[in-house]
Amino acid sequence: MGQPILLLVTDQDRVLEALASDVGRRFGAEYRILVERSPVAALATLERLAAQSEEVALLIAAQRMREMTGVDFIVRAHELHPTAKRVLLVGRREWTPTNPAVRAMTLGQIDDYLFEPWLPLGRWLYLPITQVLADWVPSQAPSFEGIRIVGPRWGSRAHELRDMLTRMGIPHGWYLADSQAGRELLQEAGQDGSRLPVVVFHSGRVFVDPSNAELAEGLGFGTQPAAAAYDLVIVGAGPAGLAAAVYAASEGLQTLVVEPRVVGGQAGTSALIRNYLGFPRGIGGGVLANRAGATAWCGCRTAARSQPPRWSSQAASPGGAWACRGSRRCSARACSTARPERRHGPWRVTTSTWLGRGTPPARHPCTWQGTPLR
Ligand SMILES: Cc1cc2nc3c(=O)[nH]c(=O)nc-3n(C[C@H](O)[C@H](O)[C@H](O)COP(=O)(O)OP(=O)(O)OC[C@H]3O[C@@H](n4cnc5c(N)ncnc54)[C@H](O)[C@@H]3O)c2cc1C
Repeated sequence: MGQPILLLVTDQDRVLEALASDVGRRFGAEYRILVERSPVAALATLERLAAQSEEVALLIAAQRMREMTGVDFIVRAHELHPTAKRVLLVGRREWTPTNPAVRAMTLGQIDDYLFEPWLPLGRWLYLPITQVLADWVPSQAPSFEGIRIVGPRWGSRAHELRDMLTRMGIPHGWYLADSQAGRELLQEAGQDGSRLPVVVFHSGRVFVDPSNAELAEGLGFGTQPAAAAYDLVIVGAGPAGLAAAVYAASEGLQTLVVEPRVVGGQAGTSALIRNYLGFPRGIGGGVLANRAGATAWCGCRTAARSQPPRWSSQAASPGGAWACRGSRRCSARACSTARPERRHGPWRVTTSTWLGRGTPPARHPCTWQGTPLR
């Protein structure tokens, strides 16, 4: 099997030549660029490539072709290469709801579109192609395993750990304990396999049946509050909690985010978040979760110039509570040891509900609402 393939299809010679030249210049080192002037011939080529188990990473097809439309071609091509990303080439100045790209995106028939002409190259050609290829890469076996997990075939904990790492975007490998590779890995890690799963970091660090907190700590997340007191404690690092953290930190509030599982919340479990402002083509849930986590991290670092806030991830058991000392500042302690107090804030923050501190929520605008800790 050779390099992954990018297939370009249009029956307009001038367009095909320019596209092949521009795409080849940027992506030619890593991908094999194939061109076809006829969608029917392209389907025959794709059939042959599938039979040879060649990998097609990306299909780019013009919508207007004599033999069939680009969307029809892409739908048929995708049956032959289901993991290939699909991009439709459409004309500019067609901002109408009837543009075939809109319908094809809505129906999930294409992943993205390109405009013709696609200048300037960096913005209108290289950026979209780089983005779709970045989404294609995770569908392939990782070339690097930052973490390797050895577990039993049916154990649920190993699958939970894999799910966490997938949602965090960390490349990892999975090995059955009774496979040859699994046995070798256990031996390398100095384990006899009586306790599973075993998690082996690239650095050589080994964890046996780790808790979420241990894994988070191994990955470099804080598992203990870095400061003795915080202005705001946000429970839950879903999109709402992270957005709240960014705004709070930008206002100079010393902020702590606690999360028992994975940064990104439910959004990280979605293959594609479709309706999110700023992402007209949609965005993978895992990518959005990673970007949101990074925004919270960077946002807090930026705000550190005025009044250092803290951002940290704290393993907390669901239903846990955080105690507040005094009406101005909250003392963050582990949920297992915290004794909830009702007289002062903070207000508990869950999913998309913002909770005010100190003042009853009803007196705040509607974004500040919720219930006190119980
Ligand atoms: C499969 C799927 C597809 C979706 N597709 C779309 C879409 O296309 N477009 C769209 O707009 N939305 C979509 N959504 C919805 C979107 O993901 C949610 O609206 C969004 O995640 C809600 O964010 P949130 O922060 O309010 O809550 P959540 O994402 O639920 O985050 C809450 C966080 O709080 C944590 N938590 C819970 N209890 C505690 C506790 N006691 N202590 C500490 N932490 C705690 C949880 O672990 C979680 O991380 C989809 C959701 C799913 C599941």
